[in-house]
Amino acid sequence: TGSLYIVATPIGNLKDITYRAVDVLKQVDIIAAEDTRHSRKLLDHYGIATKMMAVHDHNEADKITALLDVLNQGQSIALISDAGTPLISDPGYRLVRGVREQGGSVVAIPGPCAAIAALSIAGLPTDRFLFVGFLSAKQQARRAQLEQFVNERATLVLYESPKRILDCIADAELVLGEDRTMALVKEITKTFETVRTGTGRQLRDWLLESDAHRKGEFVVLIEGVQDAGRVPSIDPSVLRALNLAHQSMP
Ligand code: SAM
Repeated sequence: TGSLYIVATPIGNLKDITYRAVDVLKQVDIIAAEDTRHSRKLLDHYGIATKMMAVHDHNEADKITALLDVLNQGQSIALISDAGTPLISDPGYRLVRGVREQGGSVVAIPGPCAAIAALSIAGLPTDRFLFVGFLSAKQQARRAQLEQFVNERATLVLYESPKRILDCIADAELVLGEDRTMALVKEITKTFETVRTGTGRQLRDWLLESDAHRKGEFVVLIEGVQDAGRVPSIDPSVLRALNLAHQSMP
């Protein structure tokens, strides 16, 4: 059977694609793309003439059988999404699982991913992070999701649309606390790539400063709970008094 290649494509700058990705996209029989019109631009830029097929969230289930048949006939497929690494807040999971379940080969052609790029430039801790992706568009559900992370020590990694970026920051501040350091990482690899770090309040002020600040694509990073934040710190003199009181108890 043919192989399924999961190919990362640029997240803004067309040059961010590997030599191997271009080779694979040229050589496979079919490119399964999230939005064929969108991907055409990239493929044309690199002179890739491979046939495309649309596979998005809404038709993924239907397309899986067709794509499995293609692989069973010995043809190969490359899966790409509109930007970055497929399956990362993008369709493809069910297809990959389907191919694996029937013993087929799935090959990674790694490259850009907005979450990883954001972590690499923001200056927040990266030793442990939790990828959250998109929060709910509804306020109540969004706050409930954030509540799950009140005690999380890992850096949270969120994706957000310009439409909801202000609400997202405001809710994160409300639920997780005013002192959390957050980073807005915007337009990565594009002309106006920007990183802003601060409290929720400071980031909201910056977003409100100009319409331009709210446009574009965002990754939001939120620093996890630090040790000092987990256990309310007790003044040493109070601690000593408590110990003394404890010792004098019968
Ligand atoms: N699969 C992609 C990846 O590997 O990062 C993510 C796809 S998801 C549908 C799109 C979201 O990723 C955007 O709403 C934004 O939050 C984030 N994103 C994508 N490109 C970005 C960029 N150049 N700068 C900042 N965030 C970006």
